[in-house]
Amino acid sequence: MQRYYTKEAQATGPMEHKELARLVLIGTVRPETLVWREGLSSWQPLGTLPEFQAAAPSPPPLPASAPGLVGPRHYRYSGRYPVFRTCATAICGIMVADCVAWLYAYGQFRIPYIYICAILPFVFGGILGALTVGTYVFARIRSKSIVRKLTFAFVINTYYFHWAAWVSMVLQQRGTDVHVLDVALQPEALWATILAANAAGPWTLFGTHFTGGWVTAVWVLEGLIIVWLALMLPPVFFGDLPFCEACNAWCTKQANVARFSHQEEQIVVRAVEDKDFTGLAALPQVALSKDVGEWYQCDIERCLKCNNLNTLDVLYVAAERDQKGKISTTTRKLVENLLLTSTEAMHIKMLGQVKRPIP
Ligand SMILES: [Zn+2]
Repeated sequence: MQRYYTKEAQATGPMEHKELARLVLIGTVRPETLVWREGLSSWQPLGTLPEFQAAAPSPPPLPASAPGLVGPRHYRYSGRYPVFRTCATAICGIMVADCVAWLYAYGQFRIPYIYICAILPFVFGGILGALTVGTYVFARIRSKSIVRKLTFAFVINTYYFHWAAWVSMVLQQRGTDVHVLDVALQPEALWATILAANAAGPWTLFGTHFTGGWVTAVWVLEGLIIVWLALMLPPVFFGDLPFCEACNAWCTKQANVARFSHQEEQIVVRAVEDKDFTGLAALPQVALSKDVGEWYQCDIERCLKCNNLNTLDVLYVAAERDQKGKISTTTRKLVENLLLTSTEAMHIKMLGQVKRPIP
């Protein structure tokens, strides 16, 4: 009798009972997977078929408070955020960011060395990005839309505040004793002062006094660097680190637990997505100490409190050494946050520890 099972809403088959049983054993077909064979009037979950009730290991029930596990195979954020904690942390974070903005404006106003001033926007943007990350990690925000809004609020507020701080310093230098908050609360006056400073020209460099369009160009470039870094850094550092709803804690990333050698990308991705550990074990491994070449890298994120939430990322890595001996690496994520049981996660780690000749 031929059997079929569904994978990503597609019927897969036909196959004999033995083959289906093998897929059940390695976890490709799960108790909840819809299957069909002769004698059934409709597609049914595998676990309900009498011939599989003993064979199919049924997973433990999900904890009641695990709305983070919406996708059945891949981790998804629950969308939750503690409202009070989020507001309190965001206010504190923005206040700290405004202090940094003031220091940045002070640096740009006081430091006479152009090269240092040129580096400052990178430092400021970097700190701003790091502060944003710190805020939502501490606030335990698991909603990407809230994270986006918060990042936007951080950038707009702080960028505006740095202008207010700079203008207040310019005005103070000209003998007008005005507080930075007074300037910040008068956007029209702030804008008029910026335009006047632009027309008058704030700097003389290499014997040339720059005004108007040149100054605008530098300011726009400065703003772009700050905003770009502040928006780019949070995903780099925070990425898609899962949050364990049961323990109310972020997972910890264990990068580079196993590596497979470079070959057909689809074979690796399919074996990983299907949790075909036999297939994965057959793939040539790349030593974890190897520093140049191409390979597929496995990263595991795990809740260290309960060990129940484990996810797997697979990245394509290409690392090469340049003439100066410096290694440059490019990476591309192929599998993101695939949910694993703790046994499956252990299995992946063991694959990385197997010593085999490097092809
Ligand atoms: Zn946990």
